[in-house]
Amino acid sequence: MLVHPKRSSARVLLSSVFGPYAQDDEYGSRAMNPMELYHNQVTRAQGSFSLRMFHRSWGIMLMQANISAPCTVLDFPTREDFARELRENCYDIVGISSIIVNVGKAREMCRMVREISPESVIVVGGHVAAIPGIEAMLDADYIVKGEGISWMRRYLGEEEHAPIKHPAIVSGMRTRIMGVRLPERKGATAATIIPSVGCPMGCNFCTTSAFFGGKGKFFNFYNTGDELFEVMCQAEQELTVQTFFVMDENFLLHRTRAMRLLERMKDAGKSWGLSVFASANAIRKYSMRELVELGISWVWMGLESPRSSYGKLQGTDAGDLTRELREHGIRVQGSTIIGLEHHTPENIGEEIERAVSYQTDFHQFMLYTPVPGTPLFKEMTEQGRMLPGVGLADIHGQFQFNFRHVAISREDSKKLLDWAFWRDFEMNGPSLYRMCRTMLQGWQRYKNDPDARVRERFAREVKKLGSAYNAALWAMEKEFRRVNASVSEKIHGLRREVEREFPVAARATAAVAGPFLLWAARREEKRLAAGRTYEPPTFIERTNWVEG
Ligand code: SF4
Repeated sequence: MLVHPKRSSARVLLSSVFGPYAQDDEYGSRAMNPMELYHNQVTRAQGSFSLRMFHRSWGIMLMQANISAPCTVLDFPTREDFARELRENCYDIVGISSIIVNVGKAREMCRMVREISPESVIVVGGHVAAIPGIEAMLDADYIVKGEGISWMRRYLGEEEHAPIKHPAIVSGMRTRIMGVRLPERKGATAATIIPSVGCPMGCNFCTTSAFFGGKGKFFNFYNTGDELFEVMCQAEQELTVQTFFVMDENFLLHRTRAMRLLERMKDAGKSWGLSVFASANAIRKYSMRELVELGISWVWMGLESPRSSYGKLQGTDAGDLTRELREHGIRVQGSTIIGLEHHTPENIGEEIERAVSYQTDFHQFMLYTPVPGTPLFKEMTEQGRMLPGVGLADIHGQFQFNFRHVAISREDSKKLLDWAFWRDFEMNGPSLYRMCRTMLQGWQRYKNDPDARVRERFAREVKKLGSAYNAALWAMEKEFRRVNASVSEKIHGLRREVEREFPVAARATAAVAGPFLLWAARREEKRLAAGRTYEPPTFIERTNWVEG
């Protein structure tokens, strides 16, 4: 590969694709696929109780922190912002990061660079690079597949294998629930930590696993628990946080690293809380005690189907595991796939009911989707089962099948998906209520734990339950009384229990803030019904920058 002639003096622009996102447009934005992870694929059926927040484009942030060239990160620009940035600054290299659904935007951005800044070298990366034949779909000089930091370092003539510097990343922003935007105080939101990319389990549909090498492959930014501990200490200091959103596809799979991290946490008396992604087989490598001591407070796990053949689920009863985790105060985010090969109109209802019966705190439902670049896509293409005429902008798992299923039609796939979300909401109520229930279970179990770190973490987590969350429970109970008496009664029971634990603060907050939250949630329902959508703000961040 060539090195850029200006090496580390080259000016670099790294941009995510342009918005607005929550609308249907010619570039591939879709109203049903907004830039809100939870609302988009987890709590979408929960109306004003849906958890709405934005996450930054972490890949380009990491890349910026690990090159010494003058660099601008432009995150969530509008088309005009992107054009202005190209016009006002003379960039030698323009990097565009995109996922597959946004290929139309990446194409348009390449076109804009050629027009406004013809001297710039265009580099396209992110999942869009996995599309077979992408080179012919857009006008870029380089398409980078997989991990991009080392590529960019090589291109700038910098030390490819230098240690990875982790930027301070606040995990979410503009969080909104029940019509209220949560305050963004320093330290109130977890820090994102990215220890690795990829997952060696290699499930056939998994884009992240495939993108970073597939089965048996992954890339560690931090190999050891010691390195990870240092990075977390740094984030703790810079962002004043004690909770971490660990963005690793299968964090618990790397047991040696996790257990060393635990040793360091114990030695330093850290009562950190960790939200992680982990497969069932990886979780089962730990005792509940180890998970609790490690601070695991939230886990996102695949629960595809007891009849599926994925290695990660073998030997695990998903119902037992999810219940056990919740009993130990670990919030569970389940993920279930609709439209696996064995699904039929006759058995899919039963599978959805089973997923709902796990009563996870959050539940993601996704259509079985052969996404370009995955083994499943290859397999379906070879079998001639990919449906013609489905645009890449619609291949995101929340619309309709993009392949011919043997027993379920494309139209029915969407109906089944919607049904799963509604059924989960109808039976289990808002995720905010479920989260409160798990938090209380954890508090009751561990409030007198002999380990001060464990006690401290649960006390910290439960603080909100004894105040603001109880006001939310009051409002949810009232709202559901009108539409779903069974859920309202469950919420009532939980509120009473919370008030027994925290008699003064919980009651007072419910009395004062409960009615306001009820009003705000109803107002939000009306706004949503009238078509209100939310967009992330634009960020411009410069490093090693010299004007001129
Ligand atoms: S276990 Fe999860 S992250 Fe790993 S390959 Fe399977 S779906 Fe992907």
